[in-house]
Parts: sequence; structure tokens; C-alpha cells
Amino acid sequence: MGPGPSNPYPEVTAALCRPMLGHLDPEFLALLDETCERLRLVFRTGNALTFPVSATGSGGMEAAFVNFVRPGDPVVIGVNGLFGARMCETARRLGAEVVTVEAPWGEPLDPEAVLAAHDSPAIIALVHAETSTGVRNEIGPIGNGKRDALLLVDMVTSLGGIDVDVDGWNVDVAYSGSQKCLGVPPGLAPITVGDRARQRLVERPSSWYFDLGLLSRYVDAREGRAYHHTAPVSMIYALHAGLGTLLEEGLESSWARHQSCGRLLQDGLVSMGMRLVAPVEHRLPQLTTVWVPDDLVPGCEEADVRRMLLDDFGIEIGAGVGPLAGKAWRIGCMGHTARRRNVTLLLAALGEVLSR
Ligand code: PLP
Repeated sequence: MGPGPSNPYPEVTAALCRPMLGHLDPEFLALLDETCERLRLVFRTGNALTFPVSATGSGGMEAAFVNFVRPGDPVVIGVNGLFGARMCETARRLGAEVVTVEAPWGEPLDPEAVLAAHDSPAIIALVHAETSTGVRNEIGPIGNGKRDALLLVDMVTSLGGIDVDVDGWNVDVAYSGSQKCLGVPPGLAPITVGDRARQRLVERPSSWYFDLGLLSRYVDAREGRAYHHTAPVSMIYALHAGLGTLLEEGLESSWARHQSCGRLLQDGLVSMGMRLVAPVEHRLPQLTTVWVPDDLVPGCEEADVRRMLLDDFGIEIGAGVGPLAGKAWRIGCMGHTARRRNVTLLLAALGEVLSR
């Protein structure tokens, strides 16, 4: 959501316009190192292996699974939306014995049920912020109770927008995406891998590109930096700048800004007579799911409402997916778009469109 088709932080736009450096230029490598250091601060971790994978968030998911799942491994996966379901598919393709723990779309996972699903899973995986439903899943209790399992968490939509604490929650592997609350264009997947996980790396994983053993040398000078692929230089500039903006604002201030915009939006929708999908204690501020009103004027479909918002106000809201398709809207308010002025404009625009 936000006025106009794209509205990044000015620092990010300036970074994207910087003259190109070679991907092995010492100046670029210093900037890459600083980007990794900034990612450690944002993930809140001391993990040495923390860097942006040159891929979208899905590539982060792929990298997280392909390096740790061995055929036959019991892998417990919490599923309460599209991205949890995608984790299952990813793990199955690697030959895992997937044990799913489900909650209805729109409800949070029960941490106790996740922990009780298997006696000794190799991995427990779940999505922190389910973008398909607007629900936040609890991570801390699972980190406390995971025993010998590795805890692998999707933080694509949470990082920078709500409290994330990789070390405090005992998370072994986490990945994110540049385009959500970090406010950077899509195309990079920050990942962090703890020492416990590094000891369990699959040797020669089935993906060469996502092999963390090789990637750690691409990114870490202490391991004797070695060419792996040509870094997407401009995107790393952009991520470096976006993380700089976020850290300058302060993590807690960013979380508070997302919280206050989410609250303003959600209260505004309720005061317009609309109903929210996610329960209040597990409702994400950065992604609001709201039921499509059942009294749209005859002949007006929910897609028409989204189209009018885009055409007439330059605001894009998302369609529902999976069981919520055609029934709910997903309104993102993330990163640079999480501004009270954007929320106020959307509420007014939606009210106007619904009254036509
Ligand atoms: N995980 C979550 C929670 C997401 O919301 C998304 C994308 O929206 C992804 C993974 C996949 O990221 P990408 O579309 O950047 O590949």
C-alpha cells in the first residue's frame, strides 16, 4: 500500500542510482561486510554466517531447507497458511518425512502442538508472520522446547516490522526477504545460520547454487573469500541503505511505527463496519486481513474494489489467497509505506469506493 506504484526510502533510491563497482572491488566487499553486520543487528544475532542470499525470499526458503534436510529426516512443519504449506512441499522434495501441525487459516499455531508432534524431529520449521493470513506465530516457546531439533523460521514478513530475536528465541536458521518491512526492492533474501546448525550442514546438498558451504566463502573473508557468483551489486547497495535507514530509526521505533499504523488501519476498518480475520493477540500490524463486506453493491466484485483503489487512488491492496480467495483482502503496510498518511488515505479511499 502507498501512493504511486513505488515509493521506496529516498536513501534506497539513491543507492540504486550509485555508479557500479565490480563485484570483487574492495570497496564493494567492504560494503557487503557492512551489510552483513547490519543484518546481524536487525536479526538480533551474533551468527557469523549472516548474509543476503542473491535470490528472492523463496530462495531463502530453498537455501534454508536444502542445506539441512536429509532424505528420511523427520521434519515438523507448522502450517496455517500458504507459506507454511510451501515449506512442506520444499521439504518433501528433499525426501523428508514431513509431519504437519495445522491450524485453520486465520488462526495461530499452537506451540505445544508443534513441540508434541514428534519425539525427535531433525528440524522444526514454521513461518513467523504468515503473509497469507495476517497471523503472527509464536517462536520463543518453540525455541525453548525444541530439544535437539534445529529451529528454522521464515521471517520474510516480520524482519524489521515486528519484534524479531533470533538469538533470544534460540532460532537456528532464519531467512527473510528484502521487499517487505526492510523497504528495499525484491530480490535479496537475508539469511542467518547459527553454529549449531552449521555443524549439521548437509555435505554436497542437491543445490549447488544454494550450498551454504560454498556461499560462506563468497561472503566471509575469514574463510578465504572465493568467487561463487557475481553479486547483484546494486541490490546490495540498496539493502545496505535500507538497513541503514532502519537502524538509524531504531528497531524499536520501526516496530512501534508499524504497530501504530496497523492499529490505525485496523481500528479504521472496524469503525467502517468491517470484520478482521486474525484474532487480536496474533494480528500482524504490517499485514491486515479483512473480510470482504457481504453488502457490496450488486454487480460489484471484490476485484472491482481493488481495481478502483489502484486506478483512482494509486493504492494496491492484495487479494485473498487459498481458502481466503474472493473472501478477504490483504492490506500491507510495511517498511516505507507504514505511514499514518497512507493509512488515512486508504481508509478514505476505501470508504469512497465502497459508497459508489
Ligand atoms: N515467505 C513469506 C512469509 C512470504 O510472504 C513470501 C512472499 O510474500 C515468501 C516467503 C516468498 O518470498 P518471495 O516472493 O520474495 O520469493
